[in-house]
Amino acid sequence: MLETTPERSRAGGARSKSFYIETFGCQMNVHDSEKVAGVLLGRGYRPAENPAQADLVLYNTCSIREKAAQKVFSRLGEFKSASKEKLIGVLGCVAQQEGEEIFERAPWVSLVCGSASYRKLPELVAEIEAGGRRVTGLDLDTDETFETEITRRDNPYRAYLTIIEGCDYGCAFCVVPRTRGPERSRPSSAILNEARRLADSGYTEIQLLGQTVNSYRDPSPRGMGFVELLREVTAVRGIRRVRFTTSHPNDFTRDTVAAIDSTPALCDHIHLPVQSGSTKVLRAMRRTYTREEYLEKIFWIRSAQRPISITSDIIVGFPGETETDFDETMSLLEQVQYDALFSFKFSPRPNTQALDLTDTVPEEEKGRRLSILQEHQRQIQIARNETLVGTTQEVLVDAQHTARGQWAGRSTSNRVVNFTSPRENLLGEYVSVKVFRAGPNSLVGEHVLQPI
Ligand code: SF4
Repeated sequence: MLETTPERSRAGGARSKSFYIETFGCQMNVHDSEKVAGVLLGRGYRPAENPAQADLVLYNTCSIREKAAQKVFSRLGEFKSASKEKLIGVLGCVAQQEGEEIFERAPWVSLVCGSASYRKLPELVAEIEAGGRRVTGLDLDTDETFETEITRRDNPYRAYLTIIEGCDYGCAFCVVPRTRGPERSRPSSAILNEARRLADSGYTEIQLLGQTVNSYRDPSPRGMGFVELLREVTAVRGIRRVRFTTSHPNDFTRDTVAAIDSTPALCDHIHLPVQSGSTKVLRAMRRTYTREEYLEKIFWIRSAQRPISITSDIIVGFPGETETDFDETMSLLEQVQYDALFSFKFSPRPNTQALDLTDTVPEEEKGRRLSILQEHQRQIQIARNETLVGTTQEVLVDAQHTARGQWAGRSTSNRVVNFTSPRENLLGEYVSVKVFRAGPNSLVGEHVLQPI
């Protein structure tokens, strides 16, 4: 039941208003929602448990999946009748992509705001509170990043921290440069202050975020590069693990591997999306590196003293991908031996260059290639995870499965580890787990009670 009448909440009445944010998509979106929640908390809103109980419902959308806009409109349709009682807003990639068209198709929506304009959210929210009905934030022309006083973090143990927003690459299949705007790095002092605040409030693991995280260039006079920033964040007292995602192969340098080797707090994991094993397809995708250049970077990682897990993204069936090109992707998989892989069938997205290319690979063939690729990757993951049976892994515990009598968490290599323990209250702790079984997507083990 609502604690405020809609009229009072819209007018900014005495009783506190509530909000609910539904988030789709990547970690950047998840973290954006945390920051948006922070903005709203700062304005006196309180979180609602579900959309029905909220005065303000926001959809933070993603356009990676096919027919994303259609899905958003059908989700918005479910709130048409409730829109007299609540304010509805659309955020994220679909908001940026569809813009004011959203008001035409869903006139009960009050706010449309793309991610490059989130810094304006406090003013935009003030506008809808004052009765504004078609409030938009759709600028891409910005050199600012989204800074908030408060961020409401949903995971109490691992915190996301954005270091760079937007993207200056122009991959043919990707809408991000159009929806998130040009690349903007945050000043190192703002990042380090946030890392210290996180450590002070009990976080021990930080995940640095950016669409191209390793393109980071400190805009302040200190002028830190990515690797220097990594070292500084790991040096923050109380921070035990630092991860970063997503790295662009073009900007991936050998000193990142050297930093991981020499800095125990940097996690043993690099996500390095390749997208295709064929140089011809990479060129068509505008990925700015060849297969050989990518493999050279893999060689650096595999030559490290620490075993670093490598994960990647692959798109099959990009326009012009022949059977030979696909075979090259399969041979790359075999050569690299990824620890995990996110793989998709190509489908054209609005506002991308690939939309103008002829989609040459039939759907059925895309599906066939994807299942061959995924099955092969599954076998690779089983084999790689089996090499860890008998080892002891340090796990940051972040979940308890009471019904299964198990705890769960992640190793430094980002593997999910499920385990049993005679102890209670392990959430947030780092524990040693002896692995006795491995599957394609997780490890199973038992708590070793002495420290690693
Ligand atoms: S590097 Fe390419 S795939 Fe990644 S966000 Fe930029 S344009 Fe998109």
